[in-house]
Amino acid sequence: MTIPHPNPVDLSHIQPRERAEILAQALPYIRKYHGKTMVIKYGGNAMTDPALQQDFAEDVVLLKLVGINPVVVHGGGPQIETLLQRLGKKGEFIQGMRVTDAETMEVVEWVLGGQVQQDIVGLINAAGGKAVGLTGRDGAMIRARKLRMTDTQNPDLEHDVGQVGDVVSIDPSAVKALQDDAFIPVVSPIGFGENNESYNINADVVAAKLATVLQAEKLLMLTNIPGVLDRDGKLLVELTPRRIDELVADGTISGGMIPKISGALDAAKSGVTAVHILDGRVPHALLLEVLGDQPFGTMIRSH
Ligand code: ADP
Ligand code: MG
Repeated sequence: MTIPHPNPVDLSHIQPRERAEILAQALPYIRKYHGKTMVIKYGGNAMTDPALQQDFAEDVVLLKLVGINPVVVHGGGPQIETLLQRLGKKGEFIQGMRVTDAETMEVVEWVLGGQVQQDIVGLINAAGGKAVGLTGRDGAMIRARKLRMTDTQNPDLEHDVGQVGDVVSIDPSAVKALQDDAFIPVVSPIGFGENNESYNINADVVAAKLATVLQAEKLLMLTNIPGVLDRDGKLLVELTPRRIDELVADGTISGGMIPKISGALDAAKSGVTAVHILDGRVPHALLLEVLGDQPFGTMIRSH
């Protein structure tokens, strides 16, 4: 599914005086977030539409230049799917997690650590930033183990999803060193195990854990839907842990939204001040969230 990029907003009538006024209105937000870390999960359609890619890269660079520390964690579901298909393999998901056999794991490493990561690094650099790509192997960042996944409806049932990993620990020192040196880290969600084996980790899970260990001010998850929707398809602007439990138990939250919401909730409970699931199909979604005073998407509360 591709979403046509909305027509660019026509700004030709804006006078220099008005432009200055608009910029000045961003000052309180810039002051508030200066020096703070924001972990941004980049995924879904926002990642495949060229115009939105450009907006995203510009937003990340702008945040960096005003003294905020963006850290990007990317997914790559559609890109992995494309290569698997070319190789004649079919992707299979259980509770939002990709079933990963050894061959699929190779594909995941090529696509995430090679193609997708370097595409994003290139985009950010082209927008005037200095991005550095890392997988969880770099700087021994993401230690992982095989995920033990119980069924969301039946706790006695366990699913085997192959080389899908659970995060054991994240050492953020490589990310911090890059940040302090004016670089923008771009992290691929691949971890390594005790025997140096690779693990495919859901990018939302990595983003959430990274936000926690970095004590980030914000965790922003850009996706391909307006936020978390209720049974009738209405946007839920705010979610408490109790409501999340109900929505998962009754099946309203399913698929890729399961790891996303559980990661978001973990981060909120572990001290990340603001956790939001946002529509990445909105042009400049990032700036809109960080510099705007109107909430959009779904905010996850810690209690
Ligand atoms: P991403 O690439 O952003 O991680 P995913 O496909 O993994 O995207 O997760 C987002 C998807 O979760 C949505 O596109 C939607 O199909 C699915 N989903 C399941 N339940 C819900 C819900 N209650 N509200 C919103 N999306 C949901
Ligand atoms: Mg996902």
